[in-house]
This record gives sequence, structure tokens and C-alpha cells, in this order.
Amino acid sequence: MYSLIFYSVSEGISIDSRTNQATVFSILEQINAGALPIILSKVAIYIVIAREATDLPDFTGTLIMTLGEAQLVSQKVVCNFKDQLKGRMVIDLYGIPLTTFGKLQIKLFDDQRLLGTKEVDVLQAPAITKRIMIRCPVTGKPVPTGMNVDINSFKSLEFPRNTFSPCPACGQSHSWEKKDAFLEPDEKVS
Ligand SMILES: [Zn+2]
Repeated sequence: MYSLIFYSVSEGISIDSRTNQATVFSILEQINAGALPIILSKVAIYIVIAREATDLPDFTGTLIMTLGEAQLVSQKVVCNFKDQLKGRMVIDLYGIPLTTFGKLQIKLFDDQRLLGTKEVDVLQAPAITKRIMIRCPVTGKPVPTGMNVDINSFKSLEFPRNTFSPCPACGQSHSWEKKDAFLEPDEKVS
């Protein structure tokens, strides 16, 4: 019978190519959303399972993610043990829309049997709105893009490429995407 040894839900996982060691970072326990819906840009699921010598060397299971009544993900997961009794799976899920507050449950099934459950609370946090800034590519000064966002959702939100003009620092038009953007600091930006 297959058994679950380790199971985590996080924002990322890296595998060291030299040592083959896995590092799980930013474990997801709670999501603070100012307003819904939000899009979870990435969820990384790390599963280590063991088999007995009598189990098949190919494991096929199902990963099901629900939030309240809604099923958000249902995905087949496969692990090839080769000659080992222990195997691991890394599953990356992208762009998951959260439309209600409540418990996000991620369940791993082996055929009909539940192997493990992870829960992440999706909580309503008071909205604190800040201006989205970029650094003006001409002057290097921080400038507002004209968009505001709730600080609780900024990290998980996706932004399409945006353009604004005129730039308050140089008067030109700039286009930006999320990797260029940051929130205005608490002190006044000049
Ligand atoms: Zn500029």
C-alpha cells in the first residue's frame, strides 16, 4: 500500500541539481485577500510517497483542490518509483482563481483512498490600498503608474502589461509589467 511521507503546499520548490535535495520555500498556510476574486499566480505542491515492495512501481493518483463548494483543480499525478521504494512528485499549478473566503483544501487520492489533505485558510484582510510604482527608466526616480492595489493582494495578482503617460518625472510614456513594479513606501514619495 502506498503511503504519504511528506506533503507540502508552498509558493515554490527548488531542486538542487548537484545533490538532488529539494527545498520548499514560502509554505502556504494562509492567504490574506483584501477583496475577491484574486488569482493565485503559483502553487507548488511537493509530495513524497513510499511504496511497499508488492506495490506497482508506477503510482497514479489524483490531486483535488476545493474552496468551499467549488472544485478548482482536479489533476492526475504520476510517480515513477523506478527501483526505489520512495518517490517524489513536484506539481506546479498556475493562475488559480479564488472567488470566496474559506478553506482551500488540497487532497491527494490513491484510487479511492485519501492519502493526505492540506488546508490553506483564505481570509479576508482589511484592504490597505497603495499606489503601484515603477522606476522611471529615464530619470531613475520612483513614479506612480496611476494604478492602485490592495497590499494584501499585490503579491498574488497578475498584471497585464500596462502603459501610462505622461511620466511625472520625464514626461514620456512608459510601459511596465509586474516585475518592474513595487508599492509606494509608507513615507511620502517625492
Ligand atoms: Zn519617466
